[in-house]
Amino acid sequence: MYMNDINKEFYKKLGISDKAYDIGQRALERIKDQFALIDANAEINQMKVLSAFQKHRVSESCFMPTSGYGYGDVGRDILEEVYATCFHGESALVRPQMISGTHAITTAFFGNLRPGDEILSPVGKPYDTLDKVIGIVPASGSLAEFDITYKQVDLLEDGSFDYEKIKNAITEKTRLVTIQRSKGYVTRKTFSCEEVRELARFIKDIKSDVIIMVDNCYCEFVGVEEPLDYGADIIVGSLIKNPGGGLSPIGGYIVGKEEYVENAAYRLSSPGLGKEVGSSLGVIKSMYQGLFMAPTVVASALKGAIFASAIYEDEGFKVAPKFDEPRYDIIQTITFGEPAAVCRFCEGIQAAAPIDSFVRPEPSDMPGYISQVIMAAGTFVSGASIELSADAPMREPYTVFYQGGLTWAHAKFGILLTLQKLIDASMVDT
Ligand SMILES: *Cc1c(COP(=O)(O)O)cnc(C)c1O
Repeated sequence: MYMNDINKEFYKKLGISDKAYDIGQRALERIKDQFALIDANAEINQMKVLSAFQKHRVSESCFMPTSGYGYGDVGRDILEEVYATCFHGESALVRPQMISGTHAITTAFFGNLRPGDEILSPVGKPYDTLDKVIGIVPASGSLAEFDITYKQVDLLEDGSFDYEKIKNAITEKTRLVTIQRSKGYVTRKTFSCEEVRELARFIKDIKSDVIIMVDNCYCEFVGVEEPLDYGADIIVGSLIKNPGGGLSPIGGYIVGKEEYVENAAYRLSSPGLGKEVGSSLGVIKSMYQGLFMAPTVVASALKGAIFASAIYEDEGFKVAPKFDEPRYDIIQTITFGEPAAVCRFCEGIQAAAPIDSFVRPEPSDMPGYISQVIMAAGTFVSGASIELSADAPMREPYTVFYQGGLTWAHAKFGILLTLQKLIDASMVDT
């Protein structure tokens, strides 16, 4: 038997029909060039990570769990040096005490802003969880309550920067410009490092002492460029997304200019203490190993996204990005236009999961969302969207946000299963 026939038999046992399998094979033929590029990028990123480990002489003693104040926690300090080297920053704060991406961004904001300062977002509204941090939605303890104001300039109709309005929005008060690269959960495009550079240059020409902060969530290791080489002063992200490689059980990072990282550390622990305290408990080894795995894990997630894009475009649905478009984050959107198809897709992802595969996801109300949301994920680390997952707000135009996959084989199976669910429901017609 040929390799393909053997595979086909395996998949059939797992509920993938010949029809779904053949659609998948057809897509694979078309995406070979994209896969080659992803593998080449992963190779470069792997070497980048490896050489940072070697440069800072990571040794087994770095993995020793510490407790209490954590004075002189060598593993913690060296991991931060490894991050700084990897992402081309002067300094880094990488801690299990930073719970999530939102917490890392909050820490960077509060550490670096003072009453009277203003934040500018020149790329439209930031990620939903930041609404209450900034005070876009009133909340106790928001930046707004500390007299730190916020301005936003939306993108132009075609998705480009509104330079005229950005120029007008910058005043004496503007202290920090936040640039979210990833689309998050809206349907705009994701920004490349080149675009970050263009924007950062424009802004610094008008006011040179602003801090350019890049929300780098979902973008790490997707390409080989780093925003800190492209005009960013600090980058911020979550360790249960790309750089945690699926292994880090918690954490956030802030990398960039020494002064700004130090300010954030003063906020995270205490003024005067900063990076000197904070034990790494027993999780530091997974943070190291996760970073080491991250380039290939991200590559797997990207392959899954491209595979899904090719299949569903072929089936007549609107996808973004298209399989052959450049990618800057791991998110794939597929617009189904009807609620039932969204549910079938999410059921496929859930049924493919290593954890909770027997659960059937259903739309439900979520705090902070105006419409119901359906979420599919069966993950080792709760909420980790570097693992195979999909979610969708149940409203027009019924778009699914698909991301993650620790291995390409798993992502592939998950997508074939979504296709099978749609075929069974007669919702695709090739
Ligand atoms: C996920 C995400 C965040 C928030 O990170 P959490 O870890 O979920 O708190 C912020 N910005 C973007 C673009 C994200 O994708």
